[in-house]
Amino acid sequence: MSTDKNYQLVIIGYGGMGSYHGQLIEEVERIQLSGVYDIVNYRMDLARSRGYHTYESMEAVLSDASVDIVLIATPNEVHKELSIKALRAGKHVICEKPVTITSSDLTEIMQVAREENRIFMVHQNRRWDEDYLIVKGLINKKVIGEVFHLESRVHGANGIPGDWRQLKANGGGMLLDWGVHLLDQLLQLTDSKTSHVAASLSTVLGNEVDDGFSTHIRFRNGLTALIEVGTTNYIKLPRWYVKGTEGTAIIRDWDLSGEIVKTNSNSVKMEPLPIQAGNGLTKTMAPPSEESTLRLPLEKPEIKPQGFYLNFIDVIEGAAEPFIRNEEVFRVMQLIEAIFEAAETQSVVQLDL
Ligand code: NAD
Repeated sequence: MSTDKNYQLVIIGYGGMGSYHGQLIEEVERIQLSGVYDIVNYRMDLARSRGYHTYESMEAVLSDASVDIVLIATPNEVHKELSIKALRAGKHVICEKPVTITSSDLTEIMQVAREENRIFMVHQNRRWDEDYLIVKGLINKKVIGEVFHLESRVHGANGIPGDWRQLKANGGGMLLDWGVHLLDQLLQLTDSKTSHVAASLSTVLGNEVDDGFSTHIRFRNGLTALIEVGTTNYIKLPRWYVKGTEGTAIIRDWDLSGEIVKTNSNSVKMEPLPIQAGNGLTKTMAPPSEESTLRLPLEKPEIKPQGFYLNFIDVIEGAAEPFIRNEEVFRVMQLIEAIFEAAETQSVVQLDL
């Protein structure tokens, strides 16, 4: 295959995320967006109004020999069926997250991809998020010493968006939605296996699926993590709160506001003075003195634009390893299953993952 070939890509499911992929792919030199297919007519009309070719059926996409890549951006419950069909038709596949509803469904897809010798990659795009990469950088560079606890949250107040995300049959709920992103990031932040999982799901809005969740995950190396998604939070908690043996880091939001406060190893250690706190005095909770700490800005990472799509092409051409490995995605799905189990049984689940 010549390396200057334009890969022909078709988007299946031209809703919110399908349209977003369409915009992004227009910027990728090596990929040509050659068409769109959606089961809903007005989505097809929208695609045509933007100048895209539309296919009349999924079969028409799959029988078009010029199509190299199929990108699946439909609701979650059809990811498996559509991915397998596309792989069997000899197409490479990009699939939106969550890859499937269960980990065993992913095993089937991986088996078909192997049999057909096609590339299958899941769009875990939040591995390119700046806030996450800042945390990864400070862990790797030990900026606040050894990180022993981290909290990763996303909070909104709009409830579950009012469509298929509210329905169990479509793979709705926040654990399978935002949860997938936050757990995928978490598992990239440590080499350690997990050991225990506790969790609770929120259903305060009365939907049949979770409108948020909170999970506490312990790793074998002692790291603990609190991962939380909420759609009933009129006041947000910070996006990241990270504790290390020498300091604490906070990232408040996607605007990357935040800071690092760490111990100043050059300062003379002083006993804290008691402060008035409510109806009493405390030394324990007195803030550290200005001299004994350093305040550092967050170090912003350099991000290669279009990294996901470029890596996908490199993987097709055998020029790179997948940046998102299916085994990693499988591990996230297993973790999600353990979180559901811990929440349902109201117990701590042992998980050697
Ligand atoms: P959406 O409802 O806006 O769009 C889904 C589209 O798929 C709709 O137009 C619908 O008509 C179409 N569709 C449904 N079944 C189909 C089928 N069998 N064949 C063809 N088209 C079909 O949903 P969305 O928000 O765009 O989410 C789509 C997928 O993208 C979900 O899996 C979601 O989790 C994922 N997503 C990922 C991110 C991310 O950051 N990676 C962000 C949002 C959504």
